[in-house]
Amino acid sequence: MPSKVNRSHQVDTEILQYIVEGIYLVRANDGVIVYTNPVFDSMFGYAHGDVLGQHFATVSNTIDRSSRNVAIDINYDLDNQGWWRGELSFVKNNKSNILCNVSISMFTHSHYGKVWISIIENINRKKQVEDVLEKSKKKYRDLFEKSQDAILFIENYKFVNCNQATLDMLGYREKQELLQTHPSQLSPEFQADGQRSDVKADEMINNALEQGSNRYEWNHLRANGEVFPVEVLLTTINNEPHSQVIHAVWRDITLKQQQQQRIQYQAHFDALTDLPNRFLALDRLEKIMQEAKRSGSKAAVLFLDLDDFKKINDTLGHDSGDRILVQTAERLRKAVRSVDTVARLGGDEFIILLGGLNDIADAGHIAIKLLDCFNELFHIDNREVILSTSIGISCFPGDGVTTSELLRKADKAMYHTKEQGRNSYHYFTESMNSGIARRLILEEQLHNALAQDEFHLCYQPLIDIQNNSIVGAEALLRWDNPTLGSVSPVEFIPIAEQTGHIVQIGRYVLTEALAMAGQWQKKHLKPFNIAINLSPRQFRDVDLLQHIENTLQQEGIKGDSLKLEITEGVMMSKHATIEDTLNALTDLGVSLAIDDFGTGYSSMTYLRRYPFDTLKIDRSFVSGVCEDEADRELVNATIAMAHGLKLKVVAEGVETQEQLDYLAQQQCEYAQGYLFSKPVTADEFGLLLEKGLN
Ligand code: C2E
Ligand code: MG
Ligand code: MG
Repeated sequence: MPSKVNRSHQVDTEILQYIVEGIYLVRANDGVIVYTNPVFDSMFGYAHGDVLGQHFATVSNTIDRSSRNVAIDINYDLDNQGWWRGELSFVKNNKSNILCNVSISMFTHSHYGKVWISIIENINRKKQVEDVLEKSKKKYRDLFEKSQDAILFIENYKFVNCNQATLDMLGYREKQELLQTHPSQLSPEFQADGQRSDVKADEMINNALEQGSNRYEWNHLRANGEVFPVEVLLTTINNEPHSQVIHAVWRDITLKQQQQQRIQYQAHFDALTDLPNRFLALDRLEKIMQEAKRSGSKAAVLFLDLDDFKKINDTLGHDSGDRILVQTAERLRKAVRSVDTVARLGGDEFIILLGGLNDIADAGHIAIKLLDCFNELFHIDNREVILSTSIGISCFPGDGVTTSELLRKADKAMYHTKEQGRNSYHYFTESMNSGIARRLILEEQLHNALAQDEFHLCYQPLIDIQNNSIVGAEALLRWDNPTLGSVSPVEFIPIAEQTGHIVQIGRYVLTEALAMAGQWQKKHLKPFNIAINLSPRQFRDVDLLQHIENTLQQEGIKGDSLKLEITEGVMMSKHATIEDTLNALTDLGVSLAIDDFGTGYSSMTYLRRYPFDTLKIDRSFVSGVCEDEADRELVNATIAMAHGLKLKVVAEGVETQEQLDYLAQQQCEYAQGYLFSKPVTADEFGLLLEKGLN
């Protein structure tokens, strides 16, 4: 009966309209959709009735993710058990897919006959959330397992889990070995700060539990017993009040610590000698001063500067110079107590800090010990080098109460020692302040002296002892400065040497002296020798040789009229360029004299090795030749040795007839000195040549 059938069909579908899951009915015999409820329509974006009459395959995708046709399963299950439950992907109105959970059961409908009733639930979001969760779990697992940092979990003060990096770091094979251990069981007994590891570990954990996290550095112990530093970050995992799960990350900071130590070391120690540097030395001086203040004792700063070290660098090269500095550092370190500080300020400057002194005279005793360190020769590349040092001493509290004041005054005292002839020591005195100021003015004024025409030359005659005639002259430089007045070459030549000005000044001397020599030769038509002093620094001037050659040519003078006077310092080394230059000079006919013989190293080796033809005995020996037995012996021996080496001898600084007579008796060939003439201007010397000595 149709009306009855219709009514019950309406009742069925009316109920379905109120169900909040999506529902649709499919006719079993042909798979056509015969009913959809409003939730179904809105889930997929259809208007009511849109999909009625269509095959269910048009709204749902029965091919699942593994390409199986689910329709077969559905049919089978429905036939056998009357229901099917699973996931199906539905096609929305806009063609996109939605994954749904579907429950299908079969029943016989009064109107449609055998139908499938499908209840569907959108699980797309749930699925997405599940996927994200799964991914993040995997990510976390990977992070934990593959992390380069050691990751551990702590519960009740014991490790309850750890990753592979932890095992690698500690050198264990199995997790089991680490589980249920207390952090102190994997640590040395004491931490770097001296605290017991077991006490401190609990403290660190408690701190993390209270604060939520704790970061600190810790020393752990590898399976092989090696201690290594890690940076630890503890973080409590959740905030439940009674939870004690802590996530720990360890980062091995061995490299970082080594780098820090290296930086620390570089900041405080000198790379060449390993001695404390200026920075650390001043820091220690500060402490020594505080201690002295507290105990009422005294302290001293000894400022050392090697004598003529520049010459060593210039002649032996910087590598050898460096090695001498290293040897010096060793000698100084051995000469003082281990509690005293030996530091290098830079270059050839060292300081020694002495604390706890009862008497400042003790500093002088130490200074003597330090000077004695240099008695022994330095051996560099099979060469023997003689070195000395100049020392200045300042005392606390007498000379100053700040580190910089003490250092400055020790430095001044050191300069004073240099001025007094080096290789000695002096305590600072207030009168030294003016000495330093003078050096600064000298340096400043020297800078423009050549340009301002402040130099001129004087000439001192060279006398042939046999016939009392003038055979030449030594050119001697004079400097008249508007501020300083007349300055002695003994004072300014070493400064010009140090500042490098000597190269230009030396050229001026050569040009000027050779020009005068040329004039005198022409005027008097007789051989005339001009002697010119050459400084060590001038040998580093690559144009020196060319300049001499050009000037000789320009003035029309033969090379054999020029004699270059050099001191032994120049020959300290067997430096190739010096030997080459000296040989090239002799090739030009220029002759070489060794000046101030007896004051330097007085080495026969140099005299034999280099092409000298004249030896000048220093005036300090000549002046004592009539009174002092030792000087006389030295002069006799020197003349005999020079003659043995086929060198002519010039006696410098002859002031009395008695000295001259003695020298003549010893067969000394030439003499120079106030007895004949002081150094005079070019004009005066011209007159001397004309009139002869009276
Ligand atoms: P030196 O080459 O040994 O020169 C001799 C020094 O002795 C000169 O001093 C001279 O005036 C001085 N003298 C000469 N006879 C007597 C004497 O009988 N009694 C006394 N008491 N002294 C005498 P001066 O002119 O002061 O020169 C000092 C030093 O300065 C020179 O010693 C030399 O090493 C250096 N010097 C001078 N001129 C130059 C120069 O043009 N270049 C370089 N590199 N050094 C120079
Ligand atoms: Mg000379
Ligand atoms: Mg001399």
